[in-house]
Formats: sequence, structure tokens, C-alpha cells
Amino acid sequence: MKKKKTIKQGLILSLLILIIIIFAIIYLCSPSFQLRKKGYQSNEITLIEKNLTDKEISNLIKSNHKTPIKDLEKQPLFQRKKLSSYVTFDQSYPNHKANQIVKAVNLNLHKQKGFDIKKLDRYLSFYQTYQNLDIKYIISLVNQNIDRLEIKDPDFLLSVITEKYYIENRLPRYLQYHDTHPTFKVSIVVRHVNANADYEYYTNTTPSNPNDQLLILANKYTYLDANYKPNDLVTVEGDFMVRKEVKDAYQKMSQQAQQEGLSFHMNSAYRSYQSQQQVYREYQQKFGQAYADKYASRPGYSEHQTGLAIDITTRRVRFNSFDETEEYQWLQNHAHEYGFILRFPKGLEQITGYSYEPWHYRYVGVEAATKIKQENITLEEYYAYYVNP
Ligand SMILES: [Zn+2]
Repeated sequence: MKKKKTIKQGLILSLLILIIIIFAIIYLCSPSFQLRKKGYQSNEITLIEKNLTDKEISNLIKSNHKTPIKDLEKQPLFQRKKLSSYVTFDQSYPNHKANQIVKAVNLNLHKQKGFDIKKLDRYLSFYQTYQNLDIKYIISLVNQNIDRLEIKDPDFLLSVITEKYYIENRLPRYLQYHDTHPTFKVSIVVRHVNANADYEYYTNTTPSNPNDQLLILANKYTYLDANYKPNDLVTVEGDFMVRKEVKDAYQKMSQQAQQEGLSFHMNSAYRSYQSQQQVYREYQQKFGQAYADKYASRPGYSEHQTGLAIDITTRRVRFNSFDETEEYQWLQNHAHEYGFILRFPKGLEQITGYSYEPWHYRYVGVEAATKIKQENITLEEYYAYYVNP
């Protein structure tokens, strides 16, 4: 009898021990214990367990790095519901100060395109100055080192970046141009810089890109190679030469105008590098360089070398009063339908670099011509904004 009792007691004891062992194992495996082992304190553990998913907690436990939860909590901008984002941020980019983590996450900086953790401090301090700025600009401007420039007029910066034709990589030039031309409207600053008109003529020049096809540029900042000659030149109206596509478009346009009782007369079309050189030199020798630059393009810089430009007038008037004719009015309304634009419009001299030339038309194709006309911009601006920003 006594023996039986002892066995029973022994069994109960073993069972108790077993239960204790099971609980101990459960406890040792529990996240709380693991977190405690990692050095988190009770109040931190409570916060973690309330706000993080099991997976996030297990990542926290597995990580070599300990997130400073109690420091995060002390930050004035700390938001309890964002704890898991703070932790994820800290786990992805360890070793940042709690205030940096909280600010970066609250602003969603790390989710922006171009975010570079090495620049975190600079983003945050730029934001400090420009709190009205959309966060995507904070990233892109700092990435362009704009925060390292001395910005004299922060309001200008804020307004220029929302201009329609704003091109990000030209911002330093907008800022600089604004400094030297403080009375110019923001839109004018953008237009001039997009057309490179913030530079002196014939400075900062670059070669034209023949791959631009019908949109190839030749202007005071972009030049054609001395050997550049389109390989599809054909004659039109006597001895004038233009590219095949231009001839077709011009003839269609001319026929339509004729049906409406108007008649065009071509005054100039393709000019080779050599012939431009001759004209320029003649002016230069007779009247000096300033005069030559005013009335002729330097060789390579003339659009006539592209085979895409024509001078149109009528027989009835001198070419410089062409804008008083019905033909000119007709072209104003219809040239774009055939792919032509008035290349040097009145009032846009500073943008095109050329005086108003009512007779000079440039073929760019219907799509570009229509857009240029609708938006009332120049080829330079179209090219800078739409073709090669
Ligand atoms: Zn011309």
C-alpha cells in the first residue's frame, strides 16, 4: 500500500517537472524572452509586441543589429503606428540616429525614386529649409547637389520647378540666370535657358546630332559638321535644293495655296557649308564680325545646311515685307499642317537668336510642327523639352 502511494507521488512529481520543462521551453522560445535576451527592456518589448507582426518581430530577433526602440519613442515626431516602418527602415539602413529614422520615415523619403541613404542628412537639412517642397524634389535636388549651391532667392527655386517646361538638369542654370536677370519672369528664365540663350552666342557649342533626323538642330549653339550634306537632296523650283520629304510637303502646301489664289516664291533653300562660309566671310571682310554675326550665320550654324529650311516669299513684295501679304497669313494658319514652322517669330528673338524672319520656314514634320504651333514655342524649346531633355 505504501509502495503504491510512493509510485503515485513519484508520477505526479515527474508530471509536474515535465509540465515545468514544457513551459520553460515555451518561454525560452517565446519572442519576449528572445527580445529580452537581445537587450530590449520590458516597455520596449510591450511596444514591439503590440505594433509589429510576428514576422517583423522574428526579423528583429534574427538581426545582428539592435534597433533603438526606446530612443525612437522619445522623438517628438514619433508615431506609434509607424513603429514597424521605423524598424524596417532601421533594419535596412542600420546605425542611424533615432531622430533621422523618425523624420525619414515620416516623410517617406526612403520610398522616393533616387533615394540614397548616404545623403540622408542632406535631404533632411534641405527639407528643413524648403518644407513647402514636394518630397520628390527634395531627393532630386539634393542628388543634383543643389543644396550645396548658394541659393539667393528660395522663392524663385520654389516657382521654377513647377514651370511647365522645367528641365531638372538645367536647374543650376535657371538659378544662375535668375541671379543675373532678376527682373525676368520665371517662365522667361526657363524659356531662355532651355534655348541655351543664357549663353553668349557661339559659346558652349555642341555638334548637331544627325540621328535627330527631321529635328536636327543648327543654331547659335549647335553646329553641323563641315562635311554634313543630306543624302536625299532634290531640286525644287528651279535650282533650289531641299530634302525629298521637304519637297513633297512644300509642293502639296504650295498647290493648296494656289487653289486659294495665292502663290509662293522660293527665295532660298539648301546652302552648303562652303557657300555659307563665303557669305559670312564677305560680310565679315566688308563690315566686320559684329555685322556678319548679326546678318549671317557662321558656317555650320545655318539651318539652310540641313536641307530642311526654305525662305518663302511672293513675287509681289520684297521678302522683308512678306508678313504684310495674304500668303504670310495663310502660312500662319496652315504651314504646320504640312510640317513647317515659322522658325524665327516676332518677339522671340532672344530665344531663337535671330531677328524676326517672316520668310524663313523650317520643316520638322507634321507632329512636331503642330505641337510647336499649339504651344507657341520655338524649335529650340521643343527640342530641349520633348526630344532631348
Ligand atoms: Zn532662311
